Amino acid sequence: MSLELLARLCRTPGIPGREEQMRQLIRQELSAYAEDFFEDQMGNLFAVRKGSGPSPRTIMIAAHMDEIGFVVRYISKEGFIYFHPVGGFDPRTLVAQRVKVYGREVLDGVIGIKPTHLTTPEERSKVIPLSDLFVDVGLPGEEVRQLVQVGDMITLEREFIPLGQCVTSKTLDDRVGLYVMIEAFRRFQASADDIYAVATVQEEVGLRGAQTAAFGLEPDIGIAIDITIAADIPGMEEKDYCTRLGEGVAIKVLDSYSISDQRLVHFFRQLAEENNIPYQMEVLPRGGTDAGGMQRSREGIPVCTISIPTRYTHSAVETAHQEDIEAAIALMTLFLENSSALQL
Ligand SMILES: [Zn+2]
Repeated sequence: MSLELLARLCRTPGIPGREEQMRQLIRQELSAYAEDFFEDQMGNLFAVRKGSGPSPRTIMIAAHMDEIGFVVRYISKEGFIYFHPVGGFDPRTLVAQRVKVYGREVLDGVIGIKPTHLTTPEERSKVIPLSDLFVDVGLPGEEVRQLVQVGDMITLEREFIPLGQCVTSKTLDDRVGLYVMIEAFRRFQASADDIYAVATVQEEVGLRGAQTAAFGLEPDIGIAIDITIAADIPGMEEKDYCTRLGEGVAIKVLDSYSISDQRLVHFFRQLAEENNIPYQMEVLPRGGTDAGGMQRSREGIPVCTISIPTRYTHSAVETAHQEDIEAAIALMTLFLENSSALQL
């Protein structure tokens, strides 16, 4: 697998509403494979390959381009930057992290914290609320205010690295899903159906891009590609793992935003069985994917999500297994080549 491309996807910034650099990167990566591209007013990017069948259906596969991040909401006289989260953060994962601030220039920053020497035991056991966290860019207040303004984008900063049999980075959610979508779109030989690979916007703030993309495209089938929770770590009980790293691609049965069409679940499962692709079934009690946005479009669209199990979700050290990623690509490629066998 191309760790280089996945690393580049992880490195490229794009919080909800600010996906322009991602859009450009994905267009470039698919330019040799897509017959056509178009964008909608929300910023969703559609890459098209027409089907060869007598009456091709419209198949939408979707992975979201946005990452959880922040916008600048206030800059103090001394130049400390306070921020508003876009997407779900656990404040415990944020203190003492590095960030990048996309102002007039790209600035490195750190999320500061009071020195332990000066805190009481009570303070040390308490979680600092997000609204009290601040970014220090190491510049005098006046200079910060010249370079940064309210509304500018801030992202977590963490280098992508291979980690044993896994990979770890910030924002594998959903750069790894985009990577799977790009690879499947590049690898599939031919399809009877029209394939639209859609890089969506604003998923992390409520599946907004997928909803408008599906409304505009009117697909017959919608498949989201996203990460899911692998809680197979110390402190968790096996019954609550959801998925496990290294056990294969996950086929979603449901989460709190969508129930996968059972004909699609069955079809994916059969494809995996017949082709010896390692897979696991996924029931996720909380969370959602673009499938939730697509499913509710117009009079309703049959959807399913293909998930990549990921540990430490929504932190700077999200971790996924390289073999699960390969299994996801293999399953999606087969789906695109064989979708015409699916009767709905
Ligand atoms: Zn996601």
